[in-house]
Amino acid sequence: MRVLVVEDDPQLGPWLRDALTVAFGSSDMVTSLSEGRAAVVVQNFDLVIIDRGLPDGDGLDLLPDLRLQRPRPATLVLTALDDPTDIARALDNGADDYLAKPFEPIELIARAKAVLRRLFLDIGAVVSIANLRYDVVNRAVYIDQRPVVVPRRELAILEAMVRRAGRVVLRETLEVAAYGFDDDVSSNVIESHVSRLRRRLREARCNVAIKPVRGLGYLLSGE
Ligand code: CA
Repeated sequence: MRVLVVEDDPQLGPWLRDALTVAFGSSDMVTSLSEGRAAVVVQNFDLVIIDRGLPDGDGLDLLPDLRLQRPRPATLVLTALDDPTDIARALDNGADDYLAKPFEPIELIARAKAVLRRLFLDIGAVVSIANLRYDVVNRAVYIDQRPVVVPRRELAILEAMVRRAGRVVLRETLEVAAYGFDDDVSSNVIESHVSRLRRRLREARCNVAIKPVRGLGYLLSGE
């Protein structure tokens, strides 16, 4: 799951990014409207959380860009005031939901999951391949109905491959899935995550194969 936070507040921004990383595996943060515009061009996000009062404009101005994307991300707008006009404006501009500051982390994550669940209703929130089942919103892996614990980076890689099952997934796509913009990724780190993931799945008797595609990346399919 790829999450972008557009928030200039020096306390709230990093706090949001950390809370969302715990809930969704990874998240990136930018602090202005122009950086937000640039970020959504280079990367497809599943969820974008947008503050309204940004140093170079109103975060709502990002919404038209996002609405045109396919697949489009779920959007959650942070409003400073619990003001009905403010909220109506966010929803009129195409936000999936809003959250009035201040809010509790538990509410943020619950709202984020709710907008993702609604969005994924169209494209399927649960992916099944052979005896593997992946719940995209809750980021839960089941093999033969049994829950399997997969560490964060491996889970991000598995998710990227499961959502593109039967297609070659480029190594760069996996890097982006498992690491944020600011992380340094050493050259063979994806390979080692994939081999650990493969071993973990095999030990759990998962009938899914992850095959390397030379020079490109990997292909996940049912055996
Ligand atoms: Ca702000």
